[in-house]
Amino acid sequence: MARRKKIYEGKAKILYEGPEPGTIVQYFKDDATAFNAEKKATIDGKGVLNNRLSEFFMTGLNGIGVPTHFLKRLNMREQLVRAVEIIPLEVVVRNVAAGSISKRLGIAEGTPLPRPIVEFYYKDDDLGDPIVSEEHIIAFQWATQQDLDDMVALALRVNDFMSGCMLSVGIKLVDFKIEVGRIFEGDYQRLIVADEISPDSCRLWDIETGQKLDKDVFRRDLGNLADAYTEVAQRLGVLPKNATPMTKPTLIN
Ligand code: C5P
Repeated sequence: MARRKKIYEGKAKILYEGPEPGTIVQYFKDDATAFNAEKKATIDGKGVLNNRLSEFFMTGLNGIGVPTHFLKRLNMREQLVRAVEIIPLEVVVRNVAAGSISKRLGIAEGTPLPRPIVEFYYKDDDLGDPIVSEEHIIAFQWATQQDLDDMVALALRVNDFMSGCMLSVGIKLVDFKIEVGRIFEGDYQRLIVADEISPDSCRLWDIETGQKLDKDVFRRDLGNLADAYTEVAQRLGVLPKNATPMTKPTLIN
C-alpha cells in the first residue's frame, strides 16, 4: 500500500494530501498545547471529539451559506477538506471579555462587550502570534483591504451562527478564533472558513453555572478536558446523552 504524503503537522492536527487534487485529509490528534506549546499533554479522545464537533459546526455553516473548507468526515479522526491558501492571520471574535483582552486592557473576565469585537493576530509561533492592526496587515501585505472586509463579514456570520447554536444548549459563546483560506475559481478568489471550529478554539461557558467547557480547562488546570468537550458534544446531540465520560467515546453513526 502506498504511503500517503504528509503535507504539514501542527500542534493538534496533521494534514495529508487528499485523494483528488484540491483536497486535503485533516487528521485530529489527541495532543493539547497551550501558551505557545509551553504546556503540553495528550488527552485521550480529544481528536475524536474535535473531529465531530468541527464537522457539526462547519456543516451547519455550509448549510446557511457561510462557505467553509469542510467536505465530509472520513472516519473517527479524519475529515476531507478543500485545499486552501491560508491567510496568515487568526481572526478572533469576542462577545465577553476573557483571556488576552482582559489581561491586555484590564477588563474583568466576564464583562459583556457592547458589541462583538473582531481582532487579528499574525500567525507566527516564534513571535507568539502578536495582535496586529489593519494598518499592519495592509502594509505588510498579509491580506488586502477587500480580504479584511470579507474576513470581518465571515467572522461575524460565524459568530451569529455559533452564538445561536450554543445559546440553544445553555452555553455562552464568549469568544472564538477562526482561520480563513483563499480558494481560486477561474479569475476569482473567494475566502472561506478553514482549519477547525471546536472547543479548542472557542471559549464556552455554561450559562447557569459559568462552568468552563473549553480549552481553558486544560490551560488553567480546571479538570478533565475530554469530559468538558463530551458535555458540549452531548448537549449539541453529537454524542448520545448516555455516553460514558470519555476515554473511548461512542459516537452516533
Ligand atoms: O487568548 P485569547 O483570549 O486571545 O483567545 C481568544 C480566543 O481565540 C479563545 O477562544 C482561544 O481559544 C482562541 N485562540 C485559538 N488559538 C490561538 C489563540 C487563541 O484558538 N492561537
